[in-house]
Amino acid sequence: MAHDPLRELPAVSRLLAHPRTERLLVRFNREYVVQGCRDILDELRSALSEGHAIDPSALEAESILAALESRIGEAHGVALQRVVNATGTVLHTNLGRALLPEAAVEAVLRAATQPVDLEYDLSRGERGKREQAIEELLVEITGAEAATVVNNNAAAVLLALNTLADGKEVIVSRGELIEIGGAFRIPEIMTRSGAILKEVGTTNRTHPADYESAISERTGLLLKVHTSNYRIVGFVAEAGLPDLVAIGRKHQIPVMEDLGSGALIDLTQYGVPKEPVVAERIAFGADIVTFSGDKVLGGPQAGLVVGTAALVNQISRNPLHRAVRCGKLTIAALEATLRLYRESANITNDIPALKAFTRPLADIEATARRALPALKKVLGPDFCLSVQDATSQMGSGALPTDEIPTKVIVVEHDRLGPNRIAERFRQARPPIIGRIHNERFLLDARTIFDPDDLVPNWGDGARDLPERLPLRRH
Ligand SMILES: *Cc1c(COP(=O)(O)O)cnc(C)c1O
Repeated sequence: MAHDPLRELPAVSRLLAHPRTERLLVRFNREYVVQGCRDILDELRSALSEGHAIDPSALEAESILAALESRIGEAHGVALQRVVNATGTVLHTNLGRALLPEAAVEAVLRAATQPVDLEYDLSRGERGKREQAIEELLVEITGAEAATVVNNNAAAVLLALNTLADGKEVIVSRGELIEIGGAFRIPEIMTRSGAILKEVGTTNRTHPADYESAISERTGLLLKVHTSNYRIVGFVAEAGLPDLVAIGRKHQIPVMEDLGSGALIDLTQYGVPKEPVVAERIAFGADIVTFSGDKVLGGPQAGLVVGTAALVNQISRNPLHRAVRCGKLTIAALEATLRLYRESANITNDIPALKAFTRPLADIEATARRALPALKKVLGPDFCLSVQDATSQMGSGALPTDEIPTKVIVVEHDRLGPNRIAERFRQARPPIIGRIHNERFLLDARTIFDPDDLVPNWGDGARDLPERLPLRRH
C-alpha cells in the first residue's frame, strides 16, 4: 500500500498533550496555541497535497511544536515588525516615515510609563493646556505669532479650511490641486471642510491676476499648496507666496500655505536641494502655514499649524480640534524633537532623518563596502555583488525630482530575476527592503548605519517547512 504522509500528521489533541506545549501555555492562552497548531497543520496538509517533498521529520509533533514556538514567540508583542530600509527613500511612508531622535524616544518612554503634566499646570496646581510647550517652541523656531498641533497634516489642512472658510470660497491654482498617497486630495478635503473650491489659472500657468480677478464677497481664503510630490516643468508660471500675500492684504483676505513637508532649517547649507523653510514662508507674510511632523522635520506623525495669533486661536477653538488632537506620546516626541532644533549643537547628527539626508557619500560607500564580505558569504557564489553610484530620494513627497547621490550594492544572479531576489530579501528576518531599478535589485546604503543590517538572516525557526510555505502571522 502507498505510504500516505498526510495520515502521519499528529492531531491537535496530541500536540496539546505534548510536554513542549506546557511551556507555551504558561505564556499564551489555550485558544491562541490551538489556533497556531491548526495553522501549521493546515499549511503542511496543503503543501503535501500540492505534492511538495517534505522531510518526514517535519511532520513529527516535536518539529511542529518547534516551528510553532518560533512563530508564536516572534509574533508575540510585535504588531509592527522591524524591517531594514535599504530603499534609499529616507522618509518612506510605507515604512513609517521619520525615525525618532533618541531624545524623543526617551520622552515617549517617560510619557508612556509615568504620569506626566500633560494638561496640568504645576505652578498653579490646576488644569493646564495640553500643547503649550510645543506651541511656544514652534513660535520660537518659525517666527510665527502662534501655533497649534493636531494629529497629522491632513487634519491640519481640514481643520484650517473648516475654521477659515466654511461656506466660503477658497481660491487655488489648478496647478496645485494635489493628490498625495492615501487618497488625500485637495478638492475632496475642501468639500469635507465645508469650503467651496474656486480654481483659477491652468495646470501649467497661473498668474497673480488670476487670483485677484476671482476675488468676490464670497472669498474666504487664498490657498497655496506645495506641489510636494510632482513638478510641472516647461512652459510654466506660478504666483509666488509674496504675490498672494500682496493680493490678500489689499483685499483683506487671509493667505494659507499647505507646505506638506515643511523644513525647519535650510538644508542647502548641507548640500541638500532646497525644500521650503517654514520660517521663510512666515517671513513672506503667510497668515497660516501647515506642515507634517514626520516628514523633513524628522519627528512623530503630527500636523503643525503656525500663523497669526488671531487665526491660530480660531483654529484652536474649533470644536473639530478636539477630534483631531494629538495623544501624549506624540506630544512627548514632538516636544523633544523641536527642542533639538532650538538647542542641539549638532542637529544633523541628532535627528536621524537629517542625518540620512546629509550623510557624506564616502560614509555611505564605506558602509556598503563593509557589508560586502558577509553578504557574499551568506548569498554564495551564484550571486554577483558590486558597489555602484545611484541616487536616493527624500521621500514623503519632499523634493520629488531632486535626487541625492548615493552608493548602492547591486545584487545580481544568473537565473533569479530582480523580483525574485527582492522577494528573498523580504523573507529575511528582519526583512530587508531594497529597490529595483533598471531590472536590477539594489540595496541603498544611505539609511544603513550598521553594515550587518544588509546581510540577510533567513533564520531557522521554520527550517523544516518548505520554502514557499506562507508563514502566516498572528
Ligand atoms: C504630506 C502632505 C500632506 C499630508 O500630510 P500628512 O502629515 O501625511 O497627513 C498634505 N499636504 C501636502 C502638500 C503634503 O505634502
